[in-house]
Amino acid sequence: MLSRRLTWGTATGSLQSGMPAMGISHWNDGPTSVFAEIAPFPTGIEMRTNVYLAITDNDNLASFTWNKDTQDVELGWTTQMSAPSVNATKAVFDRINAANPGTFYRTDLFEGRKAFTDYFTYHPLGGAVLGEATDLNGEVNGAPGLFVLDGSLIPGRIGVNPFVTITAIAQRCMDGLLAAGRFA
Ligand SMILES: Cc1cc2nc3c(=O)[nH]c(=O)nc-3n(C[C@H](O)[C@H](O)[C@H](O)COP(=O)(O)OP(=O)(O)OC[C@H]3O[C@@H](n4cnc5c(N)ncnc54)[C@H](O)[C@@H]3O)c2cc1C
Repeated sequence: MLSRRLTWGTATGSLQSGMPAMGISHWNDGPTSVFAEIAPFPTGIEMRTNVYLAITDNDNLASFTWNKDTQDVELGWTTQMSAPSVNATKAVFDRINAANPGTFYRTDLFEGRKAFTDYFTYHPLGGAVLGEATDLNGEVNGAPGLFVLDGSLIPGRIGVNPFVTITAIAQRCMDGLLAAGRFA
């Protein structure tokens, strides 16, 4: 989820990188575990604003179901299921704000005047879980020759940005498929 803090006293720079370069690691703290990247906000003008991309340890998992009536896949995720993530992030950033007088949550940047985006993720994972929807090399059960080698193999949150883990799992699956002579 995203959050934004306004820092009256401190400039955050008009020129910003395209990639997050720093983060706040507050893991191993039970329900208020948070790893928050300080994400860029490259508007080209001084905004005195920090943007955070928070990863939390939310137990809730979404589900996909097939709706026979609409002949479509439906994602089961509600705003209420995001509440543990909002609560964890708020608990950590309330403390940071309290320790830094002159900093506030911005509520003028996200839809619904929300300080925390509870309707959005940068990091969707799961959907065709390794060893459940597929075999241990990513070949879809009941569909020989159809392979899933992406983030949908991961069953849930991993507590960090997922790209390297996704790449490692894909590499591992490819090694297994090649060793099994799957493409011989
Ligand atoms: C703005 C942003 C910043 C991020 N920053 C980071 C970061 O710093 N570090 C990190 O670890 N993660 C980051 N992530 C998350 C990371 O990018 C994703 O978790 C990762 O790319 C997912 O990999 P994937 O292979 O599962 O899917 P994707 O990388 O999304 O690959 C899916 C591919 O399938 C293609 N595709 C879709 N539909 C079809 C179709 N019908 N037919 C053919 N092709 C199709 C798409 O074009 C795409 O190329 C970021 C995500 C976003 C959105």
